Amino acid sequence: MPPSYTHYLFDLDNTLLDFDRSSREAFAEAIESLDLICTDRMFAQYAEINHRYWQLYERGKIRSSEMRRARFADFLKLYDKEEKADEISHLYLDNLSQKVHWVEGAKEVLDALKANGASLALITNGLKSVQRPRLKLSGLEEYFELVVISEEIGCAKPQRAYFEHTLRELNHPSIERVLVVGDNPQSDVLGGQRFGLDTCWYNRRGKQRPEGVRPPTYEIKRIRQLLHLQ
Ligand SMILES: [Mg+2]
Repeated sequence: MPPSYTHYLFDLDNTLLDFDRSSREAFAEAIESLDLICTDRMFAQYAEINHRYWQLYERGKIRSSEMRRARFADFLKLYDKEEKADEISHLYLDNLSQKVHWVEGAKEVLDALKANGASLALITNGLKSVQRPRLKLSGLEEYFELVVISEEIGCAKPQRAYFEHTLRELNHPSIERVLVVGDNPQSDVLGGQRFGLDTCWYNRRGKQRPEGVRPPTYEIKRIRQLLHLQ
């Protein structure tokens, strides 16, 4: 029998919207203002630094404001332009907030779930100044009865407090009728598991599950498969 969830908690970036594509475009435009040509190597350097800072943020070790600046300071140091960190950080975030690319099939999935009467919440570890405009531009905000942006509530996935806040705001639905859907095994899958929720890992690149994360309830390669869980 197919599962019958009443509530879906969706991650945003790289689950519903193609963040990698938007980020790459926003980064290239920001960097080019310094007369640098954005190459694959440069973006990979930035992505690695960014990933490190996001992990610190998700573990509650640094604040979002520190992360925003430090990732560009570290990256620009490689090109002797560290003094431009604030400027580039602002420019990047401004660019990013205006970029919306849907993950293929995501809109169709949300429409189908909505039509079935499911309650949808958005759970994202993003920055407010980036996520709010993108939710508006994409039309996504109309789908969700609740939007939880980590920066706005002062804690992030996979922290327990984040999920506690989300379920409280949803009026405590029964736990076995809630499904967490996301691409990140650490923040989405582990976060949901720690809270006793079923999880669906959208693993589009067929990555290995990291150590310390138990198998999710479901694993899918295309977001459309969410409509055919067994
Ligand atoms: Mg994500």
